[in-house]
Amino acid sequence: MERISWNQYFLAQSHLLALRSTCTRLAVGATIVRDKRIIAGGYNGSIAGGVHCTDDGCYVIDNHCVRTIHAEMNALLQCAKFGVPTAGAEIYVTHFPCLQCCKAIIQAGISSVYYAMPYKNHPYAEELFKQSGVEVKHIDFNGTHSDAKNEQRAALVKELLGRLADGSEMETELDELYERAQRLFPESIEN
Ligand SMILES: [Zn+2]
Ligand SMILES: [Zn+2]
Repeated sequence: MERISWNQYFLAQSHLLALRSTCTRLAVGATIVRDKRIIAGGYNGSIAGGVHCTDDGCYVIDNHCVRTIHAEMNALLQCAKFGVPTAGAEIYVTHFPCLQCCKAIIQAGISSVYYAMPYKNHPYAEELFKQSGVEVKHIDFNGTHSDAKNEQRAALVKELLGRLADGSEMETELDELYERAQRLFPESIEN
């Protein structure tokens, strides 16, 4: 049995939270950790009780969905709501934080940011983190499956799609299947 590392464990938690996202633009999850204990979590979504982007579509202004509260912000606000100190805590996020979240993270006294995926990494956010002495680390998230198994799965899906494509006339369906497979195995399956 392979034991999961703390980094992988907390990132897995963030990825799990991302599945609760209600903004269709990007599913993000954030987990705040202190002394190896999870103290808060958040995902991209509307205010409590508000309309969801998944139901009504995003409310986009200047290319941003203004309905959504970002995962990092939601996690920090959960701490504010229940009076949990964030000074010296760490945050694990599925994506590199945006500029607004970067500033909130710094101001809340978070000491380290661990992220699984780069996302339009803003140079000013990187600069602010550095200037504030916040450690920022990119962690390769492996999921809960071993890489080897995942590659085998990707190979199988690829082979099946290839066989389907041979002499098949259902092009739109195949394109859709390819897209879904690519989302599942972004590194292993290209169209
Ligand atoms: Zn939205
Ligand atoms: Zn943000």
